Amino acid sequence: MQQIARAVAMAFNTLPRTHRIMLGSLTVVTLAVSVWRPYVYHPSDAGDNPVVKNIELNKNPPTLLPDASEPFDEETPALEDDVPKDEIDEIDDATPNQTGRYDYVVSSGDTLSSVLNQYGIDMGNISQLVKVDKDLRNLRIGQQLSWTLNENGQLQSLTWEASRRETRTYVRSGDTFKLSSEIQKGEWNNSVLAGTVNGSFIGSAKDAGLSSSEIREVIKALQWQMDFRKLRNGDKFAVLMSREMLDGKSQQSQLLGVRLQMGDKDYYAIRADDGKFYDRSGSGLSQGFMRFPTTRQYRVSSNFNPRRLNPVTDRIAPHKGVDFAMPLGTPVLTVGDGEVIVAKRSGAAGNYVAIRHGRQYMTRYMHMKKLLVKPGDKVKRGERIGLSGSTGRSTGPHLHFEIWINNQAVNPLTAKLPQMEGLTGKDRSEYLAQVREVIPQLHFK
Ligand SMILES: [Zn+2]
Repeated sequence: MQQIARAVAMAFNTLPRTHRIMLGSLTVVTLAVSVWRPYVYHPSDAGDNPVVKNIELNKNPPTLLPDASEPFDEETPALEDDVPKDEIDEIDDATPNQTGRYDYVVSSGDTLSSVLNQYGIDMGNISQLVKVDKDLRNLRIGQQLSWTLNENGQLQSLTWEASRRETRTYVRSGDTFKLSSEIQKGEWNNSVLAGTVNGSFIGSAKDAGLSSSEIREVIKALQWQMDFRKLRNGDKFAVLMSREMLDGKSQQSQLLGVRLQMGDKDYYAIRADDGKFYDRSGSGLSQGFMRFPTTRQYRVSSNFNPRRLNPVTDRIAPHKGVDFAMPLGTPVLTVGDGEVIVAKRSGAAGNYVAIRHGRQYMTRYMHMKKLLVKPGDKVKRGERIGLSGSTGRSTGPHLHFEIWINNQAVNPLTAKLPQMEGLTGKDRSEYLAQVREVIPQLHFK
């Protein structure tokens, strides 16, 4: 059911704008009809057969206002207030909040439009890019994409690591994009960097010779298995990097494998050919997300829109999540395993919960009637975290739901979410051969 809904949502997003408007209007008309019908009053029926009439009414979906949502200029709480600050956050220097650059690694099933569209970039921009370079239709797993937006939220530039040697850059020029290409001439070599935690992990990893971006890769690779804030002095790590050297300097690098010993427990993450990290047996490390924060899917009353324009003030008032209209008291479920970092009542958001999943993902749930968790709670996918309501600034019963990836709000209906997956068949046997090669190299100092 969820897959069907997702397919419909994705198909909807790929439709031309005019079709979307038509389809959208049709939905509104259909809703108006279904909402309006139960209110028709037939005096002659009133006393005749009330039981039959009641059954008839109950068959209809709960009658909610079609605009159960937030007022137009509603602002959700700033993410910075929710995310606890620690040393590891400081190293997330590629987040758009600080440098304006978005980074993405292509994984299976991705296309240029699915990647950029989940970040709210117009299909028009995406088709212009493909017009300039047809090769962009053939993104490969593990390739890096980076992009920047201009002050209007439109795509300004895109960089694509087309191969280990070639980087292509597309810079906006009027309504189209200009392509330039850079060829690297360095040599790729493997090196093992090992050390012992003394003070902070980041400081110790730097002492062992890792760069900031390499440390970030290590933290991402192990994010589903362990919490770096819990490392103690004396814990050990070993990292295998493949680095491109040019004139004795490292130009770029790729993490191949990492082993970390916390207390007497060993953690491993080894890169497979698909660019993802798995454990020693080829099992996936992330636990997977559900698409919807409820047991069934409710009607979307307001869509994700990073460039929503307030017609009154003429200012951009982004809608950073999606609103689902649902009856008061509907159980709200966490879409993934994680830790509750906020559970409180706060102004416009009403009663809301923020959950951190690994290091890159965060989800937020707003306007609830009742909260069922508290900060610090560890939650499992599908667990109840509250009951839906209409608290804070809200025009009717609904749940406002947000997904953030690397401190960037993405469209919850189309965002690429972690899947519970492992390697099978030939992929797995190739991976295990790689593991046998990598693990003996991960020696502690
Ligand atoms: Zn909303």
